[in-house]
Amino acid sequence: MKTKDIEKNNPWQRALLQLRGAVQRTRIEPLLALRLANPDRIVQVSLPIRMDDGSVRVFEGFRVQHNDIRGPYKGGTRYHPQVDMDEVKALSFWMTFKTALIDIPFGGGKGGITIDPKKLSQGELERLTRAYTRALAPVLGPAKDVPGPDLNAGSTIMGIIRDEYSKIVGSDTPAVVTGKPLGEGGSEGRTEATGLGGSYVLQHFLKKRKLNPKNMTVAIQGFGNVGSYLARYLHEAGFKVVALSDSKGGLYVPGGIESIEAVEKCKEKKGMLTGCYCVGSVCDASNKDIVGGREITSDEILTLPVDIIVPAALENAITEKNAKKIRANIILEMANGPTTLEADAILKKKGITVIPDVLANAGGVAVSYFEWEQNRKNEHWKKADVFARLKKLMDNATDTVLRVGNTRKVSLREAAYITAVERIATSASSKR
Ligand code: NAD
Repeated sequence: MKTKDIEKNNPWQRALLQLRGAVQRTRIEPLLALRLANPDRIVQVSLPIRMDDGSVRVFEGFRVQHNDIRGPYKGGTRYHPQVDMDEVKALSFWMTFKTALIDIPFGGGKGGITIDPKKLSQGELERLTRAYTRALAPVLGPAKDVPGPDLNAGSTIMGIIRDEYSKIVGSDTPAVVTGKPLGEGGSEGRTEATGLGGSYVLQHFLKKRKLNPKNMTVAIQGFGNVGSYLARYLHEAGFKVVALSDSKGGLYVPGGIESIEAVEKCKEKKGMLTGCYCVGSVCDASNKDIVGGREITSDEILTLPVDIIVPAALENAITEKNAKKIRANIILEMANGPTTLEADAILKKKGITVIPDVLANAGGVAVSYFEWEQNRKNEHWKKADVFARLKKLMDNATDTVLRVGNTRKVSLREAAYITAVERIATSASSKR
């Protein structure tokens, strides 16, 4: 594939280029390279359901099982209007590399339904999730493929998948899915895991680079599960979180947002982050009498004068258009695939350090692995134990990426891919 043939911003094409880079830098067998460039299995399903008003509609669902050399396919489930096959293929590919990078016994998979969940009632979403589970049941299972949560598909949806799958196989099977509610076989700490994992990676990275996090300014795009927990943990660790945004806009408080909780409450109350944040003399509304806070757009947040920016929403947030304007020195990629290829090249030229998604957001799948292990052993671990194990995994993976980056003189993203490809190759050779 020639670079000029690559469709701009297509995540699957980008994934293939990332693979090509890693293959060129390692000595993996051509057969393995070819296997990694093609998902093991692609499942596309039609999901007809009855709507609340009695009408019937059909939705489109996907599950891509990218690779299982290192263990069962593992990856989230996304409910979003932009879900399509190339997106799910790319996301499943990144899971294969993420699980290998943090060295857990899983491969990579991903699924999704093309849908705007905000337009469906709870009952409709439940019927759709049950239909999706029935359609995929033959290829799922604790030792085959274990879905987890992703955009707009949280613990409630995961609980429904477990319930429907268990009915189909005639035996309660909590380990078929992770990210379940606590009382339904979920793990302590799974909800916080991705944000917390990202904060561990960032802190370990800064420690190794001998940089003091105290008062470093951070702007976070996306205030859902990942962004909100990350904000909370970074704030607790002494970082100065100055800007937050979601799909409806955001707020910027140059002196530091004093209470992440106040923003959370605002979102709960109003469905958006702005319009009720006032702590001390700082409010988000543009008011000449109030020093500090103001409302910003979600795009603006990435080009603010801060030390660290965090894309924690969708793919392709950082493009060739805004990359040139980025003023931060560090980018912590909490979303999957937030940086386009062109943007990556610009950032590299500008000397901006990118902590890649496959490392930064791997905390979610790490605790999913702990949940799967607890379910299979019929155990329930304490939150402190889960967090201690998570920290160990994330610190180790960060150390490895930094070491490979240094010794091979490559970016952290390239180092992450080299590490993962070599691990996959080792597992493949031991299975021959
Ligand atoms: P979520 O649905 O809980 O939250 C998504 C957030 O992004 C919401 O606040 C939404 O308003 C915001 N958003 C949507 N479009 C936006 C835009 N154009 N600009 C700014 N904000 C926008 O989802 P999540 O679970 O927090 O996932 C966020 C990202 O992290 C996704 O890329 C996902 O793949 C990735 N991720 C999630 C997990 C996990 O465990 N949940 C694990 C690894 C990676």
